[in-house]
Amino acid sequence: MKFTEFNLSEDILSTVVTAGFETPSPIQELTIPLALEGKDVIGQAQTGTGKTAAFGLPTLNKIDTNNNRIQALVIAPTRELAVQSQEELFRFGRDKGVKVRSVYGGSSIDKQIKALRSGAHVVVGTPGRLLDLIKRKALRLDHVETLILDEADEMLNMGFLEDIEAIISRVPEERQTLLFSATMPEPIKQIGIKFMKDSEHVKIKATELTNVNVEQFFIRVKEGEKFDTMTRLMDVDQPELSIVFGRTKRRVDELTRGLKLRGFRAEGIHGDLDQGKRLRVIRDFKNDHIDILVATDVAARGLDISGVTHVYNYDIPQDPESYVHRIGRTGRAGKSGQSITFVSPNEMGYLGIIENLTKKRMTGMKPATANEAFEAKKKVALKKIERDFADSELRARFDKFKADAVKLAAEFTPEELALYVLNLTVQDPEDMPKVEIANEKPLPFKPAGGGFGGKGKGGGRGRNDRNRRNDRDGDRRGGYRGDRRRDDREGGRREGKRHDDKFKRDNRRQDNKKPHKNTSSEKKTGFVIRNKGER
Ligand code: ADP
Ligand code: MG
Repeated sequence: MKFTEFNLSEDILSTVVTAGFETPSPIQELTIPLALEGKDVIGQAQTGTGKTAAFGLPTLNKIDTNNNRIQALVIAPTRELAVQSQEELFRFGRDKGVKVRSVYGGSSIDKQIKALRSGAHVVVGTPGRLLDLIKRKALRLDHVETLILDEADEMLNMGFLEDIEAIISRVPEERQTLLFSATMPEPIKQIGIKFMKDSEHVKIKATELTNVNVEQFFIRVKEGEKFDTMTRLMDVDQPELSIVFGRTKRRVDELTRGLKLRGFRAEGIHGDLDQGKRLRVIRDFKNDHIDILVATDVAARGLDISGVTHVYNYDIPQDPESYVHRIGRTGRAGKSGQSITFVSPNEMGYLGIIENLTKKRMTGMKPATANEAFEAKKKVALKKIERDFADSELRARFDKFKADAVKLAAEFTPEELALYVLNLTVQDPEDMPKVEIANEKPLPFKPAGGGFGGKGKGGGRGRNDRNRRNDRDGDRRGGYRGDRRRDDREGGRREGKRHDDKFKRDNRRQDNKKPHKNTSSEKKTGFVIRNKGER
């Protein structure tokens, strides 16, 4: 299957080629033709499988650039995701001259109003800001022909259901509606019934919830020792690009400060930072100006950053779905990645809950010792010295010290000078700045191995799994747990239930149900996008 086989216009196809997309992803293959026919479509597929282009290409294809009105509206859960979608839609609409604007909270509304006034064919926005703009009469949706609900499950998790309904009520009934989501809890299916006509449900079933390219480890460690344990591991692993997840905003701030103190290039993002700062940090991270992004769950949701090699869960996530989202930040675009989850002894039961959902077992890893970290740092320093000496340009810059160097060489032996250099370059673990991370309340105790219902002894973690440092190449025991009872791992069910009541409440108010046909096609695949262009 090729993109040229879709009925897309030339000026859209050309941008797909420029983007370096070779073959459509499964969700694109199945949803693009339906959307092009004008059908309402529900598209369900794992994160990172190209859902933006799946709705973006047919939507852009339909835009009439001679008409200066807003013809498509994309509702997205977070500012970052809105910006990301806007960027992706902009690049596919570029050749055609489609104007795509994004609007979101935490950033000047006046500027956004101005941008909208200057013309917009497609608007991508977060629910709160969209409503604000509607109230100020700065956003008119009466000519919208395509409505897209992106990352619908996230929007639901964030409690946006009512806002979304309010926005939808401003969009003409005569329209095409596209809904995309990684999971499909009951309330989302209900949105489909309420707001869509004869919708086609396309589901790309992933073979695994978590990416096979991501190796998942856990380290059992006391709360007070987590920070040292993490930085030692970073010294040993030397991650190229990593994300550290913290449970709270305060945690993110403290971790960022601590990592900087210890010489790591780290920056943090969370909801209290203004939008400009958050975008700047993400840009710096994408452009390799920082190596470690520290983030809360919400701030990092859905971020598409290529090349993340490690995800550190400084705090084990409260909610197993968050775990899946977190580790989905690595192992993207066919590359491999690692996730390391730090678990305090009384939170061990949560491992089982996560594993119940992912159906994959995390491998226990022994914390690196201070000495291992020191050895690793030395190795890095020695390599750097070698590399720098091989760099003639750099060496040319040494010349300015010539006279002083001659003096030093007369005074000290080469060994003494080398000792001095190493002492300057390699930080001794003994002299590391102490970092205090305030205690966050650990999760309440859950008995180890229990599923949601607490049944199934088979879920217990083998004793010898604990505190064993895995040797990376041998003994890797990811894989499915064969000993699980089926009903032991109904992670999704609880998820659905949590929103049930709220939804029922909302549903009661709405009585004009639209006809609904639920045609379902399912495709099972372990697809991950491989031929992604460099960013
Ligand atoms: P999702 O919304 O499903 O999480 P995205 O739309 O964010 O996924 O896409 C993930 C990444 O894959 C993006 O960088 C996107 O540009 C890229 N991508 C999408 N479709 C393709 C394709 N057919 N070929 C190559 N890369 C693609
Ligand atoms: Mg998406």
